[in-house]
Amino acid sequence: MHKINKESFFRHNLFDIKTQVKKPVYFCNMIEDKNTSKTAISELGEFGLIDHLTKNFKITQETTIKSIGDDAAVMNFKNREVLLSTDLLIEGIHFDLSYMPLKHLGYKAVIVNLSDIYAMNAIASQITVSIAVSNRFPLEALEALYSGIETASKLYNVDVVGGDTTSSRTGLLISVTAMGSEKKEKITYRSGAQANDLLVVSGDLGAAYLGLQILEREKQVYQVNPNNQPDLDQYSYLIERQLKPEARKDIVTLLSDLDVKPTSMIDISDGLSSEVIHLCKQSKVGVDLYEDKIPLDPQVISTCEEFKLDSTTIALSGGEDYELLMTISQDDYLKIKGNPNLTVIGYMTEESSGMHLVTRADTKIPLTAQGWNAINDQT
Ligand code: ADP
Ligand code: MG
Repeated sequence: MHKINKESFFRHNLFDIKTQVKKPVYFCNMIEDKNTSKTAISELGEFGLIDHLTKNFKITQETTIKSIGDDAAVMNFKNREVLLSTDLLIEGIHFDLSYMPLKHLGYKAVIVNLSDIYAMNAIASQITVSIAVSNRFPLEALEALYSGIETASKLYNVDVVGGDTTSSRTGLLISVTAMGSEKKEKITYRSGAQANDLLVVSGDLGAAYLGLQILEREKQVYQVNPNNQPDLDQYSYLIERQLKPEARKDIVTLLSDLDVKPTSMIDISDGLSSEVIHLCKQSKVGVDLYEDKIPLDPQVISTCEEFKLDSTTIALSGGEDYELLMTISQDDYLKIKGNPNLTVIGYMTEESSGMHLVTRADTKIPLTAQGWNAINDQT
């Protein structure tokens, strides 16, 4: 289980350093903040801007032959398979800048892409970053965005090898593409699960969704009284999972160290039930998923109690956990048994048996893409 590090990037950056108030500042809008100095992007021009934003990026990967500065980046992956994944994030649809600091947004945009490469049991080595910005964003806002991108790329050891910069009429758009490479035999698809394989998940589920609910709720309060910063200490893990998610590169390494190759794998971006269904459909198998095995952080349990939410529903349908969901052969069970990072939550069955959630009351109910329906039918 993740421990909150009080000195972490997340906590540190939500402290209002200027006023020395030792209380996290959750709501601030750098773009409208009158205290931050502002430089119009137009002062630098497009090329000056790109140079300025990317000047700190260092190349560390031997697979990178040519990075930023030519018409295309050049990579050499020798005789390994090449993996590529891309995501587009749009202001107002995927993020809200009133509680998503730009540094965190840059960090998260990288993380969600790296997670897709790790979900193939591969290691990412390069990313490209494309942005569209309106003139409402000063240079300082883009610097914050790029400092998050830089932090993530350093931590996860990927080179930023290119991108594109253009203007937008209104909001901010950010698209990241991640590349990686891996030996053919190691790559894990969604389609390889077999009946009797164990269904295994990393970390714990539901926290990021609850973090978003808390932030949305507090935003309403803040809009009525902007001088009030909420005290969200008791929800710190939930908010961290929403504002600063991590991708489970460590699990890819762990599996390799344990000599376990999952039979199928996917990352959890939309919620556990939706991802389990993807594995089942693509592998042509069924599943029995055990409600009482779903890993939950104590903050998820206490917050669900407080808001009278069903924690299973939250874990099944919440999303944005960026944990890895995989199936492994029963022959590998002893290798993962007792590992605190991995939890067995069910097993795969024949396709004809269907997809089920086995409840705490030991009844079987059909698993639906919105676990919500299944749970509500039950009560
Ligand atoms: P082109 O006109 O060929 O699209 P650009 O002038 O847009 O080239 O980009 C010049 C270089 O800067 C390229 O290597 C490109 O990949 C890189 N680049 C452009 N925008 C960004 C960005 N937002 N982040 C990182 N690299 C970028
Ligand atoms: Mg361009």
